[in-house]
Amino acid sequence: MEGAIATAFDGAYGKIGGRTFLEIANEVCKKALAVICIGTCSSYGGVQAAKPNPGGYKGVGEALGIKTVNIPGCPPNPVNFVGTVVNYLLLGKLPDLDEVGRPLFAYGKTIHDLCPRRSHFENDEFVKEFGSKEAEMGYCLYKMGCKGPDTYNNCPVVKFNEGTGWPIGAGHPCIGCSEPNFWDKMAPFFVASK
Ligand code: SF4
Repeated sequence: MEGAIATAFDGAYGKIGGRTFLEIANEVCKKALAVICIGTCSSYGGVQAAKPNPGGYKGVGEALGIKTVNIPGCPPNPVNFVGTVVNYLLLGKLPDLDEVGRPLFAYGKTIHDLCPRRSHFENDEFVKEFGSKEAEMGYCLYKMGCKGPDTYNNCPVVKFNEGTGWPIGAGHPCIGCSEPNFWDKMAPFFVASK
């Protein structure tokens, strides 16, 4: 499944060919062997579920009242999706999940736990301004709002674009995009958590 499901006004805010997402998902998902949600929107509602959420958008599991395997991220990492499918093909079962439906093999540790800038965090070496000497030296982005300590995902290891880059590697703080309700919970993105 991709995308959030509109639930307010009988699902009128999300339609394909005159049928609501809610109606189609109810028909399809309940017959499925397993439902894998790709991306933060189908996993937890995503940006359209941010306050005030007039369309009543929800993730698939919450909208349909079913258990789903969630591969959140904005974007989600295709490696984590393929790993989930291969786990089923090889072992005949879905991978173990955390309490918000994410496979532990991919979301078992925080970005902060895996981050190559972690030694700078421990040594109080922080970037305080984009474009500064500290930013150039790859210091820790915590004071620029990095949400890596509160975010579970394997981005530092798997990376994106065939392993060539990822947000912190490019000098941008993590915004926590694989966490439920991150638009509300993690904002403001460029201010350090207390
Ligand atoms: S850049 Fe972010 S994830 Fe990396 S060590 Fe600093 S706070 Fe942790």
